[in-house]
Amino acid sequence: MPAPNRPAQAPTRAEQGVSEPTRVERLYLLPLGHLDTSYEQMLPGTHDAARYRFPVTAALLDLGDRGWMLIDTGMDDDLSRAPSLVWGATPLADDIRPDLPHSETLTARLDELGVSPQDITHIVNTHLHFDHAGNNHRFPHATVHVRSQQIQDTADRPGSYPIRWNPNAPSTHPIDTDQQIVPGVHVIATPGHVLGHQSVRIELTDSPDMLLCGDAIPGQDFLDTGNFDSFRDPATAAITAHHLLGQAQTRHAVAVYSHDQAQLDRLRTTPDFYA
Ligand SMILES: [Zn+2]
Repeated sequence: MPAPNRPAQAPTRAEQGVSEPTRVERLYLLPLGHLDTSYEQMLPGTHDAARYRFPVTAALLDLGDRGWMLIDTGMDDDLSRAPSLVWGATPLADDIRPDLPHSETLTARLDELGVSPQDITHIVNTHLHFDHAGNNHRFPHATVHVRSQQIQDTADRPGSYPIRWNPNAPSTHPIDTDQQIVPGVHVIATPGHVLGHQSVRIELTDSPDMLLCGDAIPGQDFLDTGNFDSFRDPATAAITAHHLLGQAQTRHAVAVYSHDQAQLDRLRTTPDFYA
């Protein structure tokens, strides 16, 4: 298993002699509260009934004259005052508890940077679970880039996707292949966690590429244990995780996990940024 790469060791695009202009001017990593659940939900069979607390994250990209892009939108900001909105009265409500102070909502994070909901022109969702697409409905001006298989899965298994947003809205851009969404933002199919999961590679000028893994790699624990049993397709997910780490190494990119507090503590988070 390759070691997780560190920003300090990876050459920047400028250092690699890559001189073409990139349109991603800044990348802000946004911590958006925490979820408290059990190891049984995340890494079955590893720690019995112990609790597992992890951060929810998203990213904001300054695209210059193309506006602003969100990579995932976290869990619904309304959970900061009404946690029952997540799972309602389902049995999961007891086992997946949101901890979302108002200051850590997406609205507050954007406010702090002077970005309004109308400024968001694009959203890329790694997938549509509630902790990744919970605020999609707050950005009516955004084109939402999400895999077709994920859109279909929300119809097939609606209970798995408790979000207040209609994936079949006209502003959705269904994706079937790996592609560049705007200059410097590439989506990559990373199957296993759910049908149609994707990760996002972002090219910056003075920082290494950032590979936002989404839930293809939620955290180092998953790599250390090799335990992807809570995913839809564990065998495929394990192959995907190795693949992603290999791509990160080849491209000297920083692989950013979606739910890893220790890694998040080592990275720059908003209002600091990567450029
Ligand atoms: Zn997640």
